[in-house]
Amino acid sequence: MTDTAATDTSSANVTTQAEETPIDLVSPRDCTRCKGVGTTFSKGFTYGDKTYPDKTETCSRCKGEKQYPAPKWDKILEQITTGRGLKDGKRKMLASFPSKLNHYSDREAARAYYVWRNARFHGGKDMTMPMTADMVIGGDPFQKELLKLSEIVAIKFFGTDMAAAHRWARAFGII
Ligand SMILES: [Zn+2]
Repeated sequence: MTDTAATDTSSANVTTQAEETPIDLVSPRDCTRCKGVGTTFSKGFTYGDKTYPDKTETCSRCKGEKQYPAPKWDKILEQITTGRGLKDGKRKMLASFPSKLNHYSDREAARAYYVWRNARFHGGKDMTMPMTADMVIGGDPFQKELLKLSEIVAIKFFGTDMAAAHRWARAFGII
């Protein structure tokens, strides 16, 4: 017994190279545009005979809040899927983004839109590049994770995240 306990204690303190850094999906993060300052600075300049002074403005992405709270991951999935017409608690991806969600003005809606749109792209349901999605998510420090979620969503609901990639790879002459 003593031996086992001793072994357990030591193994708990061992860190190996293979061990991955835990993924933190809940703590707030600094806005990527203003780097958590809340304002953006533009250097003054002269153009023709007009002089524009230095300007400090409230960050247009975080609206001066400096940080973004973590996305409500469950809520995003709920917003972009529906269980209508399905049994056993199953859900499917919405074919169109809910018009009641304003992804241009609401941060959480923008995140949901980003995941929905990229999932459709990865799943081969919409072959054009998600430009608007990139635009509405600008400044969001969780963009990488939201993109990862969209890949997972594509695999879960469309069975693939490679359809769009393959089409573009062919277009570029890579495959
Ligand atoms: Zn900001």
